Amino acid sequence: MAQQEDVFKKIVSHCKEYGFVFPSSEIYDGLGAVYDYGQNGVELKNNIKQYWWQSMVLLHENIVGIDAAIFMHPTTWKASGHVDAFNDPLIDNRDSKKRYRADVLIEDQLAKYDEKIQKEVEKARKRFGEAFDEEQFRTTNARVLEHQQKRDALHERFSKALNDNNLEELRQIILDEGIVCPISGTRNWTEVRQFNLMFKTEVGSTADGASTIYLRPETAQGIFVNYLNVQKTGRMKLPFGIAQIGKAFRNEIVARQFIFRMREFEQMEMQFFVKPGTELDWFQKWKQTRMAWHQALGFGAENYRFHDHDKLAHYANAATDIEFHMPFGFKEVEGIHSRTNFDLSQHAKYSGKKIEYFDPETNESYTPFVIETSIGVDRMFLSVMCHSYCEEQLPNGESRVVLKLPAALAPVKLAVFPLTKKDGLPEKAQEIIKDLRFHFNCKYEEKDQIGKRYRRMDAIGCPYCVTVDQQTMEDNTVTLRDRDTMEQHRVNIADLRSIIEDKVSITSLLKKIDK
Ligand code: ATP
Repeated sequence: MAQQEDVFKKIVSHCKEYGFVFPSSEIYDGLGAVYDYGQNGVELKNNIKQYWWQSMVLLHENIVGIDAAIFMHPTTWKASGHVDAFNDPLIDNRDSKKRYRADVLIEDQLAKYDEKIQKEVEKARKRFGEAFDEEQFRTTNARVLEHQQKRDALHERFSKALNDNNLEELRQIILDEGIVCPISGTRNWTEVRQFNLMFKTEVGSTADGASTIYLRPETAQGIFVNYLNVQKTGRMKLPFGIAQIGKAFRNEIVARQFIFRMREFEQMEMQFFVKPGTELDWFQKWKQTRMAWHQALGFGAENYRFHDHDKLAHYANAATDIEFHMPFGFKEVEGIHSRTNFDLSQHAKYSGKKIEYFDPETNESYTPFVIETSIGVDRMFLSVMCHSYCEEQLPNGESRVVLKLPAALAPVKLAVFPLTKKDGLPEKAQEIIKDLRFHFNCKYEEKDQIGKRYRRMDAIGCPYCVTVDQQTMEDNTVTLRDRDTMEQHRVNIADLRSIIEDKVSITSLLKKIDK
């Protein structure tokens, strides 16, 4: 575990050192849980967004996009339930003055029981060697059973307290489990209070005329309130989807794990409107489609899993998360929810407008049901970084840090180096870039030895490097180096585009999922 934490720390500093992610307003010591994307980060982020957008809007004739405003009429959030129920239970430690999410403290405690069980299993595995039967051990070993029993009892009590919205019981669980504040080490806890996660601001120039509005905590509502506009003007027939990428804001109490949980972040959401009664089939279909999208990146199927929700929001009839294996465990990257007709019905009720679909096949009107796929751009970015970061020992005894990014997502696709700064080599290198820059992102580098330039390009995940040397001036060939194998071979300048373009384009990924 400690080793994994080390790797994570290295990834965070790599992100900063190579212009991927900076703490926001760093010269003023940063702002909690807010980050800026640097020169390489913005390219990678744009590529992730493009991959998602094109997989939705280009590959599905019945999905269109929109770009709604961040500010929305305040009644939107009353209708959606966010004003009354978008809360986290928080608790303070009186000694350290630190604030925690009560549910997270208890979840961490559950994870501790899991760790204890896992430790027993690993110890026994070492002891029994080949003959070890994990299943049998887990179901018969007294110590494991004791931990498991405590864990199950805690889980049941915790779920009930959450379902009943019983804040006193949450506090009592924290006390009974002897959970201490990680900073002060004490159990001097305050009451548990509900804390709304929406940021408020005011619209209007004078204090009297001002009215409170919210920064949207999710992009989905911008889609719901535009359902009729898009359906009518696009003459859309059910089933159809509306996709959107945009910023969302949540006043997260505990900001942890770098860009995993931010106060300002970006979502890519798609709401798919279907005929009532067909929603669970579509839910299954979207689960598969979205998993295929993730797996086309080639990070290995074993690094993803579905986590189906036991506890459903009152309006949902199915929900699952796609989790990715981060250095700090399997974590949610995307949510897929069957939200029934809750949102559209609520907006109909609060706005007084009829928000329905006239089905020309059955001649009836009804409120469509909705399947939502919702993924955080920043969490996706983090999963890509975590999987791609790699420290390698080389045969010559040196080591290198290389970002093995999928070529289609890499910020820079091709770096072009003149071997030396004379004999017309720089001009020749610039000529190559001038030609290829229309097709993909190229970078020119002439500083330092070639070896150092390769390392810099490895560190930002650039899949191809080209070196222009004396021979180039004679026969128009260059050496082309592959980031992952580090192999080099001579190719004709005229062939560069056809060799590289296919491999670095988003299309190459889209083709994998559209078989
Ligand atoms: P969590 O349980 O981790 O708080 P959530 O279930 O509240 O997440 P959703 O409301 O389903 O998340 O939002 C959809 C997606 O938006 C998440 O899967 C995640 O990728 C992203 N997301 C949500 N909150 C944040 C945040 N604070 N920072 C970064 N990404 C976020």
